[in-house]
Amino acid sequence: MPGARLIILGRQGAGKGTQCVRLSRHFVVPHISTGDMLRSAVRERTPLGIVAGEIMDAGGLVDDETMVGIVKERLAKPDAMSRGYILDGFPRTVGQAEALAGITEDLPIHVVIDLDVPREIVVDRISSRRVCQDCGTNYTSSGDDPSPWICDVCGGDVTQRGDDTPEAVNRRLDLYESQTAPLIEFYGGRGQLAVVNGVGHPDHVFKRLTDVVESRR
Ligand code: ADP
Repeated sequence: MPGARLIILGRQGAGKGTQCVRLSRHFVVPHISTGDMLRSAVRERTPLGIVAGEIMDAGGLVDDETMVGIVKERLAKPDAMSRGYILDGFPRTVGQAEALAGITEDLPIHVVIDLDVPREIVVDRISSRRVCQDCGTNYTSSGDDPSPWICDVCGGDVTQRGDDTPEAVNRRLDLYESQTAPLIEFYGGRGQLAVVNGVGHPDHVFKRLTDVVESRR
């Protein structure tokens, strides 16, 4: 049976984005990434994009009210209502999680997964991360690639994200520990949390994720 309502938490660089894309194909549900939504607002220079772009480049967090508004609107669309969704990058604060619990009262989340990768490992991964500007596919740089290079999936430009500098990465990881790690307790206390080891071959991590989802749906 396709369809599921999932939240994937985890440090930046834990491989969340790539695994979420795979999960969304596997369970045939939309992948809702607040980071992707904000980056597209930045590209289109919408009023939200102009404000969010500066915050993102500094490694900060966009305010809860704005984020909750964006997600509430997205979850009300027919695809998410009928099939479910994978939320990637939201919630990021306990305030966002509380608002989400209100929004999903009638159709609750099946499982919240913490994709667990230690901080030392993610710092290395993020510095070699490259992303397609158009379709969001993630790549790993070997260190001497052309910039930009061309995306295998859509032909777009693959570059390093503006917020993947060492300073912004460290700020984001600090924010993760202070703002997002408390969500693990929040969802653990509600019996909704599953911790999945995110270290290892991506195929093995994917299998661990699908096993957890199958067991909770
Ligand atoms: P990462 O790949 O670093 O986990 P994302 O792609 O999810 O990051 O998000 C990039 C940036 O967008 C964040 O660093 C933050 O500035 C902003 N952002 C995304 N989602 C949220 C959210 N739920 N609340 C606040 N800010 C957010």
